[in-house]
Amino acid sequence: MARDQGEGVDDRRWQQDLRAGVQRAADLRRLPVLEEDRRAAEQLKARIPASTLALIDWDDPSDPIRRQAIPSALELEPLPGEREDPIGDAAHSPVARVTHRYPDRALLYVTYICSMYCRHCFRKESLNEQGQGYSPAALEPALEYLARTPALREVILTGGDPLTLTDAQLREVRERLEAIDHLRLLRVHTRVPVTLPSRVTEGLVDALDGRLQVCVVTHFNHPRELVPEARQACRRLRRAGFMLLNQSVLLAGVNDDLEVMAELCQELVYSLGAKPYYLHHCDLARGVSHFRTSIERGLELMRALRGRLSGVCQPTYVLDLPGGHGKVPLGPCYVEHHAGRDWVLTSDQGERHAYREVLRDATAGADEGSGS
Ligand SMILES: *Cc1c(COP(=O)(O)O)cnc(C)c1O
Ligand code: SF4
Repeated sequence: MARDQGEGVDDRRWQQDLRAGVQRAADLRRLPVLEEDRRAAEQLKARIPASTLALIDWDDPSDPIRRQAIPSALELEPLPGEREDPIGDAAHSPVARVTHRYPDRALLYVTYICSMYCRHCFRKESLNEQGQGYSPAALEPALEYLARTPALREVILTGGDPLTLTDAQLREVRERLEAIDHLRLLRVHTRVPVTLPSRVTEGLVDALDGRLQVCVVTHFNHPRELVPEARQACRRLRRAGFMLLNQSVLLAGVNDDLEVMAELCQELVYSLGAKPYYLHHCDLARGVSHFRTSIERGLELMRALRGRLSGVCQPTYVLDLPGGHGKVPLGPCYVEHHAGRDWVLTSDQGERHAYREVLRDATAGADEGSGS
């Protein structure tokens, strides 16, 4: 198709959006950023597209978009217990650029470049160390591994941000994966619909569309990010028949508030058609302690959401265990206790209710286990 040949008007728009934004620490000089934060940024990665900068309310020092985009001197103050590889990606890396933790799905790091460097990023240090973009040669061992691992069904393109690749590069990756018969689902984990929605062009959609089901997992954290351009980007992805999910990170000063979280989860569904998938507890990455809330706070928010939002709008609150031990749902748990077939459950109103199981097989579970 004509729009795939070379670069059209659509491509010039997002390229201009990147060029006019912050591309390095020095570019922060033209913005009302604290001197200490600007100096700290010289030791950190910084990139912010112009369209994201335009969403910041500079009169509000705690603006949620500013907090996620503008480097902070606090990032240079790691706490004991924080880790370089917070979720143990390296513990399950059979070959370069792959993390294979679960039998049927694996992460494929197609690039270590992002359209914006999020201040709360849990892969911060791998982005710093690797810093490399897409290269077919670098991916070759990874593609070989995926091809000779028949239990795999899903490949998760991650990084970095996979949607920073060009259309031709995305097409190349998709075609290579399509040629692996046991693969069924192409997952794309990306912040581009949030941070650089102009990049979601028809050409990008065409590049991803093929034999495999496509699931795009976005990363919206605040209702203010759901601007018309982001909405249009998501609409484009859904019109192509791609499944749209969203994962958010629970972030202090951004979305650790019931009204904000409720609006985010509802608008993801109602205005973007994106199902809230995971709400991640903030990982133990170094230098993100100013974003970390307690688990108790997360559970309190989740309890309040349960009574308030439809099931479609509910995310699952998860923690990624350090050391590569995987994701665990944190709850809340509504089972108070149980003894045999008698259970005590807490309703969304906080009341306790007894529930007795009725099973045809009289012996099943009747005398087993005395719950706590
Ligand atoms: C999160 C994660 C996945 C994806 O898990 P889902 O529960 O399917 O979203 C896969 N591999 C690794 C290593 C992960 O951390
Ligand atoms: S886009 Fe994703 S990988 Fe890149 S900095 Fe943001 S959170 Fe990290």
